[in-house]
Amino acid sequence: MRADNRVLTEEEAFARVPVGERVLLLPHCLRPSEDCPGKVTRDGLQCTPDCPHRESCAIGVLRDEAERLGYKGVCVAPGGAMALRFVKEVAPKGILAVACYKELLEGVQAVEEVPAGEKPAILTLPLLRDGCVDTEVDADEALRLLRLGTKHP
Ligand code: SF4
Repeated sequence: MRADNRVLTEEEAFARVPVGERVLLLPHCLRPSEDCPGKVTRDGLQCTPDCPHRESCAIGVLRDEAERLGYKGVCVAPGGAMALRFVKEVAPKGILAVACYKELLEGVQAVEEVPAGEKPAILTLPLLRDGCVDTEVDADEALRLLRLGTKHP
């Protein structure tokens, strides 16, 4: 609650979190399934630095921007379980989560169980088109949310 008794919106609460305390969660179904050269690891999909899709793939674009801004971490996960493990390990104060409605619902419910004082600010962005393979996200909207509260336009 602010001095003017107005409750912060989710975007305002997220914008107040320093970028170094924020994480970005992305679903690995956003990658081009035919020829993504990324490697699946215990910590999620890792992009290859010389990937030819780096500037057109939503994962590459959003990961690069989050890292440029100084985000605490990025997890490109095949499912909600890995994303939740990542959040528990990194303990961010702000989370931007891109996912299908089902995963978002499960993730928000899991965070609801966190004690009130430790709850991170969460922003969610549903996929434009889901279906588990070659999905799509509104990358411009994701970039806008990533940059909230930063000096980067
Ligand atoms: S940017 Fe990353 S996720 Fe996208 S195609 Fe390249 S390696 Fe795969």
